[in-house]
Amino acid sequence: MRPDAKVYVAGHDGMVGSALVHALRARGFTNLVWRTREQLELLDQRAVRDFFLAERPDHVFLAAARVGGIIANNTYRADFIYENLTISANVIHAAHESGVTKLLNLGSSCIYPRLAPQPLKEEYLLTGALEPTNEPYAIAKIAAIKLCESYRRQYGRNFVSVMPTNLYGPGDNFDLESSHVLPALIRKCHEAKVRDDHAITVWGTGNPRREFLYVDDLADACMFVMEHYDEEPFLNIGCGEDLTIRELAELVAQVVGFRGGVRFDESKPDGTPRKLLDVSRLRALGWSPKVGLQAGIAKAYNWFLEHAAPRVHAQAD
Ligand code: GDP
Repeated sequence: MRPDAKVYVAGHDGMVGSALVHALRARGFTNLVWRTREQLELLDQRAVRDFFLAERPDHVFLAAARVGGIIANNTYRADFIYENLTISANVIHAAHESGVTKLLNLGSSCIYPRLAPQPLKEEYLLTGALEPTNEPYAIAKIAAIKLCESYRRQYGRNFVSVMPTNLYGPGDNFDLESSHVLPALIRKCHEAKVRDDHAITVWGTGNPRREFLYVDDLADACMFVMEHYDEEPFLNIGCGEDLTIRELAELVAQVVGFRGGVRFDESKPDGTPRKLLDVSRLRALGWSPKVGLQAGIAKAYNWFLEHAAPRVHAQAD
């Protein structure tokens, strides 16, 4: 990327998009473009097309998506498939029409078959049935991969996809109904500590295994891929290590300083039993993460204390 390249970050105000903006600025990119949802509705095909033709960005990070944890995915199934399909189709097609030099499309590790061998290699895509709780979201993300591949094959576009593992960090969603597990556990442990509760309640059996990546590491990996990788096959982005939800709950409790116990609510779904990415391709290209899980949880907790906890308390008052 030239230092003066015009870079559009779709989804700049989400957790991933804001980490990308931060990473771009830290590397000296100043010609950045974004729009709030009020300014540009990404579900509106004509508005997206007009925006791309007017701005003509050189590089695009497609980090806009409707995202959420296991219950949100399972409950708002139509919204998750419709919004993600439409955003991807609108942005990728407009990027093609306006002649974008390179686009990086962000997907998710839930694109892989529920019972695929672990760790998940990129080539396992479309080799088996998906996890039912997030199948609509996963289908939309698979379609986005295929959009990028197809515009590359038919029109020679340099559109690349990456599949991040479970992400966490500043700007995360801490709403207990719609969030992912890690921010939910930070909030549950914090509130239990403040209230001096005996235990927190964790959904499911605690046995599923998940891998987590701090969002600044993801942004760094995206910059690396944008600058160094122009091939068709998509790339996994993760740390290559996972742990059980029970172990995660214990680690979060330790970082937050909650000394009570953990209860499991088995009426809530476990989701896929394991979702560990094989990250050997990205490692072989020369990228690896910097923030360990414990240090990352401490950073995320500090962000929660400064930004989200006051709001949470204000809502409860
Ligand atoms: P997933 O990776 O798509 O399954 O999404 P989540 O991050 O929402 O959930 C990961 C795992 O954590 C699942 O097995 C959940 O049942 C479990 N889990 C335990 N407690 C919670 C919680 O409070 N919130 C969420 N979202 N998941 C939880």
